[in-house]
Amino acid sequence: MMPLGDPMTEQKSSRSDEAAPSSEEKLALAWTHTARFLTTASQLQQLPQTELPEIAFVGRSNAGKSTAINMLTQQRRLAFASKTPGRTQHINLFELGPKTAPDTLFADLPGYGYAAVARGAKLRWQQVMAEYLEIRRSLTGVVLMVDSRLGFTDLDRQLLDFVAPRVGNGSVKLLVLLTKADKLNRRESNEALAGAQAALGEMTTDGADVGMTLFSALNKTGIGDAAVVLHGWTH
Ligand code: GDP
Repeated sequence: MMPLGDPMTEQKSSRSDEAAPSSEEKLALAWTHTARFLTTASQLQQLPQTELPEIAFVGRSNAGKSTAINMLTQQRRLAFASKTPGRTQHINLFELGPKTAPDTLFADLPGYGYAAVARGAKLRWQQVMAEYLEIRRSLTGVVLMVDSRLGFTDLDRQLLDFVAPRVGNGSVKLLVLLTKADKLNRRESNEALAGAQAALGEMTTDGADVGMTLFSALNKTGIGDAAVVLHGWTH
């Protein structure tokens, strides 16, 4: 885990694809690679009631969520299920672990924040996200994708508010991926980390498990680290 303010976050995140993955990363990446599509649901009531711990992926449209899921699972097309017409407002579930004994679910939640989306659709989004993040019993962790150049938007903050009580008391863990980090120089990277730390400030109570890392699909920054964190959440 990468605690907030840990200088390791910065050092590790500058790792390039030339660095060999550690055995811990290999194990975690082998696990994330087992992800397979399970089901899709347009309403919370349609989600299977399961005892499996669930990790939700959330973020603004275009933040790089699909790319991050595909990179983490080392599957080029996995999260594209979530981009097919008619499914963009759905919750898509993926199952991980041995086929005969799955141990974790990934939930890809609808991207948000498209200016063109009508008010009614926005309200519906808020309701679905709030309900999911507040009520989904099996929710174990949330991975929030934030474009590292844009930082946290109002909708990102709203979303964090929905889940803040559960993060604050430690029952739900949080990992922020500052995406597209390949577009930042060193100074901008540090600013992005500091900005995220400030945005998360109130959530980092003693009991909370909150981390963040720079992330890039292009130069593989943060992928091994993120896989290790997610694996640790459910193992
Ligand atoms: P989503 O809407 O959040 O699922 O976002 P996508 O995964 O579709 O990515 C949105 C855009 O950002 C696409 O054009 C991606 O190619 C681009 N993108 C995603 N991740 C990265 C990254 O790590 N580096 C760069 N440079 N571009 C990225």
